[in-house]
Amino acid sequence: MIEVKHITKEYKVVKRESGLHNAVKALFSRKYDKVRALNDISFKIDDGEIIGYIGPNGAGKSTTIKILCGILTPEKGHCIVDGYVPWKDRKNYVKNIGVVFGQRSQLWWDIPIIDSFELLKDIYGIDSRTYKQNVSELSQRLNLETILKTPTRNLSLGQRMRCEIVASLLHNPKILFLDEPTIGLDAVSKLIVRDFIKEINAEKRTTVILTTHDMQDIQALTQRVMLIGKGQILLDGSLEELKKRVSDRKQITIKHRGETPELCEGMYYLEQKDDKLNISIDPKIISVSGAIAYLSAQTEIIDLEVSDISADEIVARLYREYQI
Ligand code: ADP
Repeated sequence: MIEVKHITKEYKVVKRESGLHNAVKALFSRKYDKVRALNDISFKIDDGEIIGYIGPNGAGKSTTIKILCGILTPEKGHCIVDGYVPWKDRKNYVKNIGVVFGQRSQLWWDIPIIDSFELLKDIYGIDSRTYKQNVSELSQRLNLETILKTPTRNLSLGQRMRCEIVASLLHNPKILFLDEPTIGLDAVSKLIVRDFIKEINAEKRTTVILTTHDMQDIQALTQRVMLIGKGQILLDGSLEELKKRVSDRKQITIKHRGETPELCEGMYYLEQKDDKLNISIDPKIISVSGAIAYLSAQTEIIDLEVSDISADEIVARLYREYQI
């Protein structure tokens, strides 16, 4: 269980004023500004949950993850993860967590993958039996057996990311932090990574905290989404709840033959081009079936698609609503 209470984190940054004179002056007397990255955030995460932690760049996601991993110490507030305060007793605490940063590697660049795994075995003090079993099982499941002897630098991004995930799980952590794990991956690798995360969570009840800008990751993986903006948690709920908050409207797209149909109350034009009509409907005023019946009474419908507002659109609207 993860419990975060009223955490505030500030960074000290050197204040720079323009001009050569000020630059020379700054060498002798530095002035600092404070950037408040997290402002009194609190949340609880139960064992076995998969959390999507989303927010625009600069919102405070990485700072939160770094505090939860014990890399940073907050100025105020408290945090308990599986009985540990992450930034105290780090040596024992890190045995409980696995971390994958999409943009940074925990593998040694010039040595074969399997040698990196061996080094991690020693760092985490993994017993030989568990290590052998995990390397064999995880590499088989992520299709890595043929590349274990290849140095990291010779791998494709998709292969490297799968190796990073194995590396983060060798010591059977209870909590997995994934920061943009699918960034830059092709469609097939994304699916492999997503499926694997889902399986690990279901089989081992590994708690997963995922930060991503890829809303398909969120849709495929998470039951719960936390939205952070300007250092504050703004929303916490399921994607469905976030969707309702933005809009519960449905979209209907039809391809039709004949006259363009008139719309009734609760139906709104989005786009109309040649024989294609895209409308949105307000289900509080008219049902989907009612709208389809109304349209088909006026024109011959050749093709029909009903969809929800996309996850990307939900997030874009929330960012706009909160001005983050
Ligand atoms: P995110 O991961 O959501 O993009 P971050 O946690 O990296 O956001 O950043 C939150 C805020 O803290 C931003 O305003 C960022 O500029 C600032 N910040 C992050 N790291 C540092 C640092 N090492 N020094 C100074 N400011 C920082």
